[in-house]
Amino acid sequence: MTWQIRSRSLKPEDLLVEESLFSLANGYLGVRGNLEEGLSNYESIKGTYLNAFHDVVEIPYGEKLYGFPDTQQKMVNVIDAQSIQFFFGEDEEPYSPLQGDVIHYERILHMDKGYSERMIQWRSPKGKEVKIRFIRLVSFQKRELFSIFVEIIPVNFFGKVKVVSSVNGDVSNYVNSNDPRVGSGHAKLLNTKVCERLGDYLTVVNETKKTKFQVACVTSHRWEEGQQSIETNGNELTVTNVFQLSKPTVFEKRNVYVDTLRHGDELIEKGISLQERWKQMSMEELLTEQRKYVTQFWDHADVKIYGDEKVQEGIRFNLYHLLQSAGRDSYSNIAAKGLSGEGYEGHYFWDTEIYMVPVFLMTKPELAKQLLLYRYSILDAARKHAKIMGHQKGALFPWRTISGSECSSYFPSGSAQYHISADIAYSFVQYYLATGDEAFFETYGAELLFETARIWIETGHFAEDGFRIDAVTGPDEYTCIVNNNYYTNVMAKYNLEWATKLYDRLDAKGDKYFHTLKTKLNLKKEERDLWEKAAKEMYLPYDEKLKINPQDDTFLQKAKWDFSRTPKENYPLLLHYHPLTIYRYQVCKQADTVLAHFLLEDEQSMETIRHSYHYYEKITTHDSSLSSCIYSIMAAKIGEMDKAYHYFTETARLDLDNTHKNTKDGLHLANMGGTWMAIVFGFAGMRIKESGLHFHPRLPKRWSGYECNMQFRSRYIKVKVFKERTEISIKGNPLELTVSERKYLVKEGEPLVIPTNE
Ligand code: BGC
Repeated sequence: MTWQIRSRSLKPEDLLVEESLFSLANGYLGVRGNLEEGLSNYESIKGTYLNAFHDVVEIPYGEKLYGFPDTQQKMVNVIDAQSIQFFFGEDEEPYSPLQGDVIHYERILHMDKGYSERMIQWRSPKGKEVKIRFIRLVSFQKRELFSIFVEIIPVNFFGKVKVVSSVNGDVSNYVNSNDPRVGSGHAKLLNTKVCERLGDYLTVVNETKKTKFQVACVTSHRWEEGQQSIETNGNELTVTNVFQLSKPTVFEKRNVYVDTLRHGDELIEKGISLQERWKQMSMEELLTEQRKYVTQFWDHADVKIYGDEKVQEGIRFNLYHLLQSAGRDSYSNIAAKGLSGEGYEGHYFWDTEIYMVPVFLMTKPELAKQLLLYRYSILDAARKHAKIMGHQKGALFPWRTISGSECSSYFPSGSAQYHISADIAYSFVQYYLATGDEAFFETYGAELLFETARIWIETGHFAEDGFRIDAVTGPDEYTCIVNNNYYTNVMAKYNLEWATKLYDRLDAKGDKYFHTLKTKLNLKKEERDLWEKAAKEMYLPYDEKLKINPQDDTFLQKAKWDFSRTPKENYPLLLHYHPLTIYRYQVCKQADTVLAHFLLEDEQSMETIRHSYHYYEKITTHDSSLSSCIYSIMAAKIGEMDKAYHYFTETARLDLDNTHKNTKDGLHLANMGGTWMAIVFGFAGMRIKESGLHFHPRLPKRWSGYECNMQFRSRYIKVKVFKERTEISIKGNPLELTVSERKYLVKEGEPLVIPTNE
């Protein structure tokens, strides 16, 4: 059961959320789980998206100051190929679950097979009874392909059936001006350029208004029988097929999406040629191919929980959607909502590096590499952004973007989050430590680490008490523009240290590449020395009395937020209080210092980490879905397993249970990564360090055990944690592991068996 997400609901409020939950994607193409037949009784967000396919819209400002971005990129809702309608009998009674009787209804997301399925047994108001089954596939192996397979089964009705299937270029984006997390204004971003039949194919080409990107959808129908006619109104093509239903009858609607970013020009020809190439493959064969891909993923990524089905379901669901959302080319990354909705307008944030790359790094490293390559591909844009932000040198990554330009219009909790550059640098280092891929680290990592290190020298300054970084915002968006945010400073320190290390390593190797890179960047030894000095002298705020790292220079001077007088309905605070009200208090939207203590735990003593955890826990609202998983990891670290479990449960089913009440706008991808992190980094205590792979396994009381899989330096590792014992086995060359502070050499065929920590 835990491999399937099931729903039997046709309630409007559930359907809207299910559009996100049952969305299908493959990193390139994403389709929300709208109903083919459409229902008129609820506000549906109908959506089909291509990762990174966007238009540019103007940002309207009341007062526009220097350096504010003029425009913003916006992921576009593209051509809609989801609609299929049915009419039964000579009197053409329309099929709608809202009329007549629904005898049986069920929708399933098959996470082990990679498709979704919907079954309905329906009796029309006049008593005609049929079953209809829909299978949807967005192929992992054929990224352009979205197919719908339909089976109509007669129950008591035998006779004329009319099927009307359409491809519609007249599409808009969803807007909501009352929620800053969703786009406002600019709904219509596409014009239809072509809408015509070419032989057996329906072809629609749309073009974005400003970027002039084009997308084409080439659709074919495979009917078992019937007579077809095709109509167009200039924006929409409609095929009508009429046949006599005498036995179970099937048809397939096969849609191929191509776009100018990936496929260049002559899109229709390219779409048709893909259709032709795949023509010989039946839906069954496509499903078999899909299953193979998905099985391979689970073989290396599955997490098993013994004794908690609900949580098990949640974990698999979250991992499955991560797999669906990750961009696989240099144009794309993982949007905050993946390809499941329009929240945050398809933008990429630090979410990727801190919450999602770790999952892929340990389960599908080639995807992690691809995500990092995307960041490398926007390095020039980050250099440009640094200039706009007043820096002479270096690269400053934009807070939110699609193709590299800053898309944040509210800089206090946008562009001011300089830490994103250090987060990306951190991710490159983690990739190197986990894979040992030196060539990648030196070819791409070096340039990126040097350029991001430069930003800290540009932003900070040497003072009596150390190297200080002023006027930035840390991860906590309820505290903006501060001096010496602990998180930013400690991450910058790491960035500077690794830039120095890499410089020395390349220098010692003395190969030509380094010489060329230094010339390209006009990089001198003096700069490297400055990085080293800034790292050594980095000011990290510490409060002697509380024995914690203050979040920033003035954080502890502020009054504490009065939670006792904050009604439940006023959360998330950002939707109910002016930002200045929030900024005046000690109140955190999400983990900040606590997150820094997870990412760089060796920077502070256990005592400081513990005190800080308790201090910040009391003032954190977790209004951001990026928070609970980090509190879970850190509660496990300090040995508070009940709390760790409590926070973990908030992450595992956040979307499945719609606990943040906005799953309709898309899934919370960072939290989905966070679920895996809470198990692997939290309960299993895994860390990737220069000294190798570390574990500190613990078991939540509620479970009888759990099991996770990962890859590290070309080995496959399986960790099984039960009450009395932990078992770690590897496939591949022997590996030295540190488990609960002790070193062990683990060999294939000889699992390490040790007691589980309390
Ligand atoms: C969080 C950010 C996050 C963004 C996108 C915001 O609510 O505060 O940390 O990057 O959502 O997920």
